[in-house]
Amino acid sequence: MTSTLITNIGTLVTNDPSCPGLLGLVEDAAVVIDGSVVTWTGRAAEAPAADQAFDAEGRALLPGFVDSHAHLVFAGDRTAEFNARMSGQSYTAGGIRTTVAATRSASDAQLSANVSRFITEALRQGTTTVECKSGYGLTVEDEARSLRIAATYTSETTYLGAHVVAPEFADDPSAYVDLVTGEMLDACAPYARWVDVFCEQGAFDGDQARAVLTAGIERGLTPRVHANQLSHGPGVQLAVELGAASADHCTHLTDADVAALAGSATVATLLPGAEFSTRAPYPNARRLLDAGATVALSTDCNPGSSFTTSMAFCIAVAVREMGMTPDEAVHAATTGGARALRRTDVGHISPGARADLLLLDAPSPVHLAYRPGVPLTAAVWRAGVREL
Ligand SMILES: [Zn+2]
Repeated sequence: MTSTLITNIGTLVTNDPSCPGLLGLVEDAAVVIDGSVVTWTGRAAEAPAADQAFDAEGRALLPGFVDSHAHLVFAGDRTAEFNARMSGQSYTAGGIRTTVAATRSASDAQLSANVSRFITEALRQGTTTVECKSGYGLTVEDEARSLRIAATYTSETTYLGAHVVAPEFADDPSAYVDLVTGEMLDACAPYARWVDVFCEQGAFDGDQARAVLTAGIERGLTPRVHANQLSHGPGVQLAVELGAASADHCTHLTDADVAALAGSATVATLLPGAEFSTRAPYPNARRLLDAGATVALSTDCNPGSSFTTSMAFCIAVAVREMGMTPDEAVHAATTGGARALRRTDVGHISPGARADLLLLDAPSPVHLAYRPGVPLTAAVWRAGVREL
């Protein structure tokens, strides 16, 4: 294996609690990577020798972003729906069915090419770990092939047969829940790590969501929940009760919901792209952080309600609109996402971590919020491989 010394780093974000500040900053720093892992971090003046060197030219180095919530297996787009919504119409969960029709009629090759395109697009913006859900097939065959395709690109695959009730079951939602918890689960479980459900009016109620998550748990999947996005509801409490890794959206929370998250290991994953793209009120990150909850930021990349792969965009919006400091937002987009995926090998830069690194074309991570909309990716390593 070849070791690389990345030196002359102006500001290193380690997320190591033993270093100063929330982000564990080291100034005038260096990092050594060997093969796929980080083997050393510290002050550049004290760095050991390596086979080759890379001059960071005083710029900031961060852990690659961990995007713990994305829906990348789909076909078609919903430009017209977005345009109509921005012209005054409101968002409902039903728009998902438009993408279901396009996805079902797409070939495996088309779906795979789309996933590849979005993972590459995310990588170019510094995202080195991406979670990917099914949920636009809603038949046994289409959900299973969605996950089979997703699993060729990421180990973080999520079975979301319970995204909305399939159109064929509009008059008999309980029969659809039976399918999702039975034959569809059997076909999907071999390709999935996680089980998810859209617990919302117009999608699945608390009892249905419990049935879906419980069935997944019995098949060895770990739960995560689309919870409290469009309205108050039982999603967050259910996520905490069932030990979900994450409750995602968390836009409409009661004090009891906030307390439940703060008192649990369930991460509150906030998805500001969804509120941005539906012109909806943002979740209150400050309230969650002040209560002691762990917060993650993710893109929710999907063709209907948040068609962005940019974690930098999410950071900027979270700082401007959700009461997060720049440090908190960067932390949520790296370590926060890792916790939402129960990963200890990503989201930080310390010896033993996977060498997922983002070199910013800026001297400080604050620039991610300070310079919104500006491409700031100077270089990216994923598992020690320089990707750009
Ligand atoms: Zn989602």
